[in-house]
Amino acid sequence: MAKHGNGNSEYLEKIPDVKFTKLFINGEFVDSISGKTFETVDPRTGEVITLVAEGDKEDVDLAVKAARKAFDHGTWPRMSGFERGRIMNKFADLIEQNLEQLAALDTIDGGKLFSLGKEVDIPSASSMLRYYAGAADKIHGETLKMSMELQGYTLLEPVGVVGLIIPWNFPSLLFFIKAAPALAAGCTMVIKPAEQRPVSALFYAHLAKQAGIPDGVLNVINGFGPTAGAAISSHMDIDKVSFTGSTEVGRLIMQAAATSNLKQVSLELGGKSPLIVFDDADVNKAVELALLAVLYNKGEICCAGSRVYVQEGIYEEFEKKIAEKAKSWVVGDPFDPHVQQGPQVDKEQFEKILYYIEQGKKEGGTILTGGKALDKKGYYIEPTIFTDVKEEMTVVSDEIFGPVMSLMKFKTVEEAIERANNTKYGLAAGIVTEDLNIANRVSRSIRAGTIWINCYFALDRGCPFGGYKMSGFGKDKGMQALYKFLQVKAVVTPIYNSPW
Ligand code: NAD
Repeated sequence: MAKHGNGNSEYLEKIPDVKFTKLFINGEFVDSISGKTFETVDPRTGEVITLVAEGDKEDVDLAVKAARKAFDHGTWPRMSGFERGRIMNKFADLIEQNLEQLAALDTIDGGKLFSLGKEVDIPSASSMLRYYAGAADKIHGETLKMSMELQGYTLLEPVGVVGLIIPWNFPSLLFFIKAAPALAAGCTMVIKPAEQRPVSALFYAHLAKQAGIPDGVLNVINGFGPTAGAAISSHMDIDKVSFTGSTEVGRLIMQAAATSNLKQVSLELGGKSPLIVFDDADVNKAVELALLAVLYNKGEICCAGSRVYVQEGIYEEFEKKIAEKAKSWVVGDPFDPHVQQGPQVDKEQFEKILYYIEQGKKEGGTILTGGKALDKKGYYIEPTIFTDVKEEMTVVSDEIFGPVMSLMKFKTVEEAIERANNTKYGLAAGIVTEDLNIANRVSRSIRAGTIWINCYFALDRGCPFGGYKMSGFGKDKGMQALYKFLQVKAVVTPIYNSPW
């Protein structure tokens, strides 16, 4: 059984006050029109942290009106890119000044390791702002020498009012993966955080105002998917929706866009990514990588390497070593610096993961390690490894979004490629080998948006990230994400009496 970390009591001093719980519309914190609120819960204990205003269609309408006014008549799209970048850098400064408090908010609201928030999520959030702040004054069109009689140029213009709908697993990072390029492009926006983790987004809204982002440019509406989320995707006055979340909801977003105003859509969806370990790999390093690939952020990560394929020559050694390591993995209070895995985000996700574990057993899988919840308060699950599983079993085919690995054996390179591609998803894949020919061949043959060779989760703000197949389309990060929030206008003029 996995080791248990300490309980909650030691880390009380780290627990922040939740200062902001209302909707943020037109630069003000306001109650929802209905007056409704919803609970947000600490997954370490299952206890309610606070009540948050619950936005609905009417609140979304107000936020869109504010964003439209800020877009059509406000300064943000009209100021120089350099000035937008300056304000975005100030926003990043304020995030860095509030680093510990923001990390602690994401820990109490969703069970993320405090150290992960402090060292990765929040610094990555501010670095997204800085990356796109640097790009804001480098948005250039082209000049077109068209014919003897015509010349033209292109303008890259902001798309307009955008709806940004985000999931709960990286609430800070994903907020800025979407908002930072949209801000740099000069768009105005309505952001809907996930209902499971609503609080840090409101803190960011407060910091946006302090940084000098004009009222109406950045609005935050907390609420539920079928109400607030659907009001955004079907809104007649939103020009684009950028969505990150499940494939099921991605489909609904596209339908809503198609039946409303044909708004542009980009989708970052689910995954069930393979990690392929070849015979020539260093087994100890490969074991470390495989555990990281599935247990990072307690498996609540879209590109988790949850299908692990190991070549037959090293399979037995790999299986023995990964079982030992998984058993010593420390699960417990996410504020404890020795803990490697905190609680799952909420009761629903906790029960969903346990359901999948039971399904895996029923369908004939063998539990190598883990397989159950920890015997303590909160939503803690043991790191779980299945063997004797095949692609057609639900535990291998479905995205579980938890600390559950399917470990499988393969013989040849061809077999590994075929089985790795045997999924509706195509978000990422990992390859562990010292053989350059194998690495090159497999990376070209796998249909996925990111391939990691001898590494995993090697992400960077400048490196485009996004899916193939049913993992979605339209990249986040890198310059490609900036262009998602821009549209091209061609301006053409005749040249009279010109010989050229
Ligand atoms: P989800 O699809 O249930 O919810 C995501 C967001 O959509 C939430 O804000 C939710 O309120 C909203 N939503 C739900 N129903 C809606 C509707 N009918 N209309 C409009 N909005 C609606 O996903 P989740 O459970 O929050 O997150 C987990 C999923 O997100 C996983 O599938 C994971 O792989 C995916 N994800 C993908 C990436 C990526 O970059 N590809 C990154 C993180 C998470």
